[in-house]
Amino acid sequence: MLKLKNIQTFYGNIQVLKDINMEVKQGEIITLIGANGAGKSTILMTISGIVPPRKGDILFQGNPIQNINPDKIVALGISQVPEGRRIFPYLTVMENLDMGTFLRNDVFEIKKDMDYVFQLFPILSERRNQPGGTLSGGEQQMLAISRAIMARPKLLLLDEPSLGLAPIITTQIFNIIKKINRENNTTIFLVEQNASLALKVADRGYVMETGEIIMTDTGDNLFNNKDVKKAYLGI
Ligand code: ATP
Repeated sequence: MLKLKNIQTFYGNIQVLKDINMEVKQGEIITLIGANGAGKSTILMTISGIVPPRKGDILFQGNPIQNINPDKIVALGISQVPEGRRIFPYLTVMENLDMGTFLRNDVFEIKKDMDYVFQLFPILSERRNQPGGTLSGGEQQMLAISRAIMARPKLLLLDEPSLGLAPIITTQIFNIIKKINRENNTTIFLVEQNASLALKVADRGYVMETGEIIMTDTGDNLFNNKDVKKAYLGI
């Protein structure tokens, strides 16, 4: 579904991604783990066109997307849930969800998707007329994921969904991520600091260090790898 080939991304003169090669297959959950500042968020922003690469190719369903604007990338079927949630605090829950549909005009299907996210996260239905900024951190994360789903993505990019959340809410959100993957066949690319949780839900994982991928394997094998355990799982 997605291939990154020799991707190099810079902020000004500073090279952050050195030569990234990755692959995401249709229907998988893959996770990318690594220390703070390794470049995980930059990979997601490179895919979604926010920070285009200076070198390399990104193929989505076989077509190059590395020179395409972010709105066109959303239209192709890639949606990103940014780190720190970034919902619209003064818009209601419903209005935030509507923002996810800005490229769609299939009104009947949009209504179905809205019912679907309310079924995934019933609390959002209860709070539908409340401004997003009045929701708790966990509810805002649910809203950010739901807003991305409203674009009906084929590939969902999630940047640290567990950030700042209580463990019980994190577990709940990870269960829903698995459900979205299973029920809609939505492919998931998950960036996480909570490596143990992420590797448990992922089919495959990548480990990143200072701008490079240093290891890739199944989620289970990485979870049981002694170097990964020592460096990222605190075991
Ligand atoms: P974290 O887990 O802390 O979010 P990360 O692995 O996602 O880290 P990135 O956010 O991709 O890492 O950052 C990679 C590197 O790029 C870091 O050294 C960071 O300071 C730097 N960086 C990020 N954004 C910018 C920017 N806009 N301008 C300059 N440097 C940046």
